[in-house]
Amino acid sequence: MFRADTHCHTNFSDGTEDPMELVRMAKESGLQGLAFTDHDDVSAHPYAISKGADIALLPGVELSCAEGQTSVHVLGYGFDVDAMHAVCKEYKQLRDERNEKMLARLQELGMPIDMSELISLGSLGRPQIALAMVKKGYVSSFRAAFDKWIGDRAPAFVQVDRYSPREGIEQIHSCGGFAVLAHPHLIENKALLKGLLTLDFDGIEACYGDFPKARSLPFEQIAQERGWFVTGGSDFHGSIKPHSRLGSSWTKEPIFTQMLEGRS
Ligand code: AMP
Ligand code: ZN
Ligand code: FE
Ligand code: FE
Repeated sequence: MFRADTHCHTNFSDGTEDPMELVRMAKESGLQGLAFTDHDDVSAHPYAISKGADIALLPGVELSCAEGQTSVHVLGYGFDVDAMHAVCKEYKQLRDERNEKMLARLQELGMPIDMSELISLGSLGRPQIALAMVKKGYVSSFRAAFDKWIGDRAPAFVQVDRYSPREGIEQIHSCGGFAVLAHPHLIENKALLKGLLTLDFDGIEACYGDFPKARSLPFEQIAQERGWFVTGGSDFHGSIKPHSRLGSSWTKEPIFTQMLEGRS
């Protein structure tokens, strides 16, 4: 049976592994297809192609959008990679502005870090700030950095100015791609979820990680009612989220192929 994991992160965002390591692991676990979905970054796809990845690769991205204060992740697939690269640049600009504000707060709190000390191949955010804080000895661990200083309600946290999910969907469509609502079960605010389900998504990520059928079923029904397709992915991040296993959820062949062929 054809299986493609269409939700995973590489070291071009906050995953710990090189894209080619994911290709190796995917093949080892019997997958036939992959879509890298780094946060606001599409570089893993051309990188893996240039390295000769021998697995079906679908261009992917996970856009960090927000509705009010609640973050909503919008997955994009099958777009023109150069066009999406330009969209991601705008997301990174917003991130950089936020990162600078957070570094200024940390400086005020007696923990100076220079922008050049944040290391990432692709998108930069709080995980890299946490790593720099550990490296400089300001905190004893990655976890402690979030708990004490940079977590959602902590003193050095600054929210990124974000695009709305509606804007994210439009950006993906304008790049010729398909927009999919990521991990809908994580949206706790049911009124917000209801609103999201009226947007112009093409699909919904009903299958996630090691979900039993009972957990994906309600979202599969929603997809059916709206004429959306269903995707599945592990949200693999490597060793920073060791519980998620590549290939634990997957997208079926007809949907993967449809997304690969692009919008008609
Ligand atoms: P950012 O988009 O830069 O605000 O960073 C968000 C990322 O930080 C998330 O994707 C998580 O990987 C990580 N993160 C957020 N909150 C926590 C937390 N309390 N503990 C560990 N990692 C976290
Ligand atoms: Zn991530
Ligand atoms: Fe996500
Ligand atoms: Fe993700």
